[in-house]
Amino acid sequence: GSPVDPAAGPDEAAAEAALRPQRLADFGGQPRVADQLGLVLSAARGREHVPDHVLLSGPPGLGKTTLAMIIANELGVALRISSGPAIQHAGDLAAILSGLGEGEVFFLDEIHRMSRAAEEMLYLAMEDFRVDVVVGKGPGATAIPLEIPRFTLVGATTRAGLLPGPLRDRFGFTAQLDFYDADALREIVSRSAQRLGVALAPDAAAEIAGRSRGTPRIANRLLRRVRDYAQVKADGAVTLELARAALALYEVDERGLDRLDRGVLEAMCRRFAGGPVGLSTLAIAVGEEPETVEEVAEPFLVREGLMMRTPRGRVATPAGWAHLGLLPPNNRSD
Ligand code: ADP
Repeated sequence: GSPVDPAAGPDEAAAEAALRPQRLADFGGQPRVADQLGLVLSAARGREHVPDHVLLSGPPGLGKTTLAMIIANELGVALRISSGPAIQHAGDLAAILSGLGEGEVFFLDEIHRMSRAAEEMLYLAMEDFRVDVVVGKGPGATAIPLEIPRFTLVGATTRAGLLPGPLRDRFGFTAQLDFYDADALREIVSRSAQRLGVALAPDAAAEIAGRSRGTPRIANRLLRRVRDYAQVKADGAVTLELARAALALYEVDERGLDRLDRGVLEAMCRRFAGGPVGLSTLAIAVGEEPETVEEVAEPFLVREGLMMRTPRGRVATPAGWAHLGLLPPNNRSD
């Protein structure tokens, strides 16, 4: 996959695990969330109670899984992980919940993609620490209430707005993770370099941070690619020059656009005169699936102010033209 795709790749788990902060004090870059969560956890500890359920929302790669692990760590309990799409039937959820130990943390990723039946079971579990297990079928079916251990649910979603109100209301604490600023990312990159045993010059750390789209996952991934390059092409130490050469090789530009992002922008400007152009036409022009263009390239291009989504289609902004070193049509003299 692309080095700047914010979603986790299939082989990324081990590399990421090594770089995850373990304690809340080491979770930098989201001070408000860390402070609030710290308070929720200490208050619960003081009352010797399980903490309220926690909802984490925000784009991929900003630290939702990491926070769930930190919460379990800080509470000194085990963490159980599942995801909305993995829970097909309410019975799957009942099995997980009844297998939890007292006070454990249950991390449910992509909670907005759970089935309806599982969702209703979850309401009861969150509120009363009880599930209703249905035995039998048809008119003879009966629901048997089953007590489950008290637990803390940590739900994660890319958009809190996708959650039904009744579900959202059952979380005692909701945190919205934001994109990280350049300073925070620079610190994350430096810290990761230390963990990896890479000698990284401060200006090289800043360069990697500046191309990471506000996303720690991408920052760590770019760091690993730069490390590979330094190891093969040099003695392993990473200078600014070396970092730039490595990132150029992986086609990640100064602003963090990769080949797909630039392809989308170029197709819009060069082939469709800046738009408006429809999503499917644009996708064909760059040889990608419409979903990839819409979910991977567009959010970043829109956020950077390089393109807009209008009711009539996608449009390149003046900044988008400028990024490619081009002039918009109405500024051209030819
Ligand atoms: P999400 O679950 O939101 O997709 P993750 O928690 O899996 O994101 O984080 C992706 C990667 O970014 C992990 O390797 C993690 O270590 C790193 N990361 C995320 N947030 C931070 C942070 N605040 N400080 C340091 N590293 C972070």
